[in-house]
Amino acid sequence: MKIVLATGNKGKLREFKNMCETDVIAFSEILGDIEIVEDAETFKGNALIKAQTIYEKLKDENCIVVSDDSGISVPLFGGTPGVYSARYAGEGSTDKENLAKLVASLKEAGVEKTPAYYTAAIAIVSKYGEYVVHGWMHGDVLNSTRGDKGFGYDPMFVPAGYEQTLGELEDEVKKAISHRGKALELAKPIIKMLQR
Ligand code: IMP
Repeated sequence: MKIVLATGNKGKLREFKNMCETDVIAFSEILGDIEIVEDAETFKGNALIKAQTIYEKLKDENCIVVSDDSGISVPLFGGTPGVYSARYAGEGSTDKENLAKLVASLKEAGVEKTPAYYTAAIAIVSKYGEYVVHGWMHGDVLNSTRGDKGFGYDPMFVPAGYEQTLGELEDEVKKAISHRGKALELAKPIIKMLQR
């Protein structure tokens, strides 16, 4: 059984490859570039759309497709950007532009920091059916950025129990506490079971 990742995000790919013990391939290595419309209102819904779309296109029963939909939610702003994290600054916006917009939103609201959390939904689609698991990481977002490790909103996010941002903390620290890491721990036994 091949494990195919339904993500084109380089930061996520790197983290997935680093966290999985088995070999994983990005869908683009097999199918090239595909545009997937993620129009669900939940992380779970979008993760399923991605994994189902890639599974159907692969037409290969020997594949297990794993997708991740994730984002950051700020309760002060009603939970935004949430499922819109990848396009917070507009359709086609870059990670840098989205980060700058959230920093600007905090400045406009006149707060130096406020609670926030990351969510990751991992969907697994195979010939045996569909599964979805979740993981969360809580902390604060700052109205400034520090460090250049990680990706996306990491330079403005301080995980609960830490002083540094995820832009400053080593990848190994993020791996142990991240929303994606936690969701993947739940996904691993399911993937193992499907591989048998
Ligand atoms: P998705 O690819 O549609 O799931 O978009 C997820 C977006 O959420 C990314 O583009 C990032 O902006 C943000 N995001 C998700 N996980 C992380 C993370 O671990 N660190 C920083 N930003 C993240």
